[in-house]
Amino acid sequence: MFHHFTSSVMLTGGIDPHTHLAMEFMGTETIDDFFSGQAAALAGGTTMHIDFVIPVNGSLVAGFEAYERKAKKSCMDYGFHMAITKWDESVSREMEIMVKEKGINSFKFFMAYKGSLMINDELLLQGLKRCKSLGALAMVHAENGDAVFEGQKRMIELGITGPEGHALSRPAVLEGEATARAIRLARFVNTPLYIVHVMSIDAMEEISKARKSGQKVIGEPVVSGLVLDDSGLWDPDFITAAKYVMSPPIRESGHDKALQAALSTGVLQLVGTDHCVFNSTQKALGIDDFRKIPNGVNGIEERMHLVWDTMVESGQISVTDYVRITSTECARIFNLYPRKGAILTGSDADIIIFNPNSSFEISASSHHSRTDTNVFDGRKGKGKVEVTIVGGRVVWQDDELKVVPGSGKYIEMPPFSYLFNGIDKSDAKYLSSLRAPVRRFNSAS
Ligand SMILES: [Zn+2]
Ligand SMILES: [Zn+2]
Repeated sequence: MFHHFTSSVMLTGGIDPHTHLAMEFMGTETIDDFFSGQAAALAGGTTMHIDFVIPVNGSLVAGFEAYERKAKKSCMDYGFHMAITKWDESVSREMEIMVKEKGINSFKFFMAYKGSLMINDELLLQGLKRCKSLGALAMVHAENGDAVFEGQKRMIELGITGPEGHALSRPAVLEGEATARAIRLARFVNTPLYIVHVMSIDAMEEISKARKSGQKVIGEPVVSGLVLDDSGLWDPDFITAAKYVMSPPIRESGHDKALQAALSTGVLQLVGTDHCVFNSTQKALGIDDFRKIPNGVNGIEERMHLVWDTMVESGQISVTDYVRITSTECARIFNLYPRKGAILTGSDADIIIFNPNSSFEISASSHHSRTDTNVFDGRKGKGKVEVTIVGGRVVWQDDELKVVPGSGKYIEMPPFSYLFNGIDKSDAKYLSSLRAPVRRFNSAS
């Protein structure tokens, strides 16, 4: 009989490209701050994350300063994306300051959240152009905000006010539409595009089509979308159902498997979490109206385990692919490679020791997040992060954290990542291909 030894492997620490720590949203604030969220991340083998700075009254500079303060207690390295929540000349000017002075190389635009964060196509086009000129990556939350607003009204009129109304009001077709629109506008501007939290087959297929045509589009599924389906939203217990509310919503069974397949074949490139947690009390703000349930689920601590179990243990991807989708590709996209995302001479020593023959079990009572619920509660699987090392220091071992507030560093991300290679050449080719202007005899000389 074939026998193999129990052996742990040394892997690159995870990088989570999508988190919201200490974010003020929907009248409250996410309950994991830069210390508790990062401690949870380290216990789960993630050694760096990129969070979204939210501007203050539209000011990017004020937003950046606020997040610098929030991040003072960090115990692991982090970087920032910047959300764009309105558009005017000063926002455009401040984008340049962010890129040239503050180490930000990506901006997120919202095609949803009508009346608050949403921007229309005219402004999205301005944003895409600005990103291109700065060498910054444009990111989109892709859902049709006007139609979502309509869908919400429809559900309320039908008397559907519970968490299931959240999913019913914003079906996958609206995610597919906005994804397609953003992709086409980015193609028109000729700039790379990053689609955050790809939750549906509809959106994934648009990304697939664009990539096959040669367009530079990155698709980021999140762990909740990869391993869960929407059944929890129909749970008769409000708190249980409300914990699954996030946008775009977790889809019905089938989307999860399709997203896994897309990840295994390179249609989607990396896995985030959209870790954005609110506790039961905060979720209860929407007890009478799903529109008031703060949106967001956990995942920063669970991502590395769930992706291993779902993708590697199931035989869908290799260990090399695992490192790529949980770490290396993120470092490349955000221009951090090989300082991050690799174990090389000169790289930061962010390393995990992973035992494929051990096992994990997820529980709201034992996780390190401050929230009192967990959307993956009760899940068990193969593989375990036994040791986490950051910058050469052991911070997680024998199920014990040894983290120091203030020890995490802000990592600046320079513009013009590999995604911008060749843009100047394709622009020149386009310009030289224009069969115009035509000289006409009747024009003034
Ligand atoms: Zn979003
Ligand atoms: Zn998010």
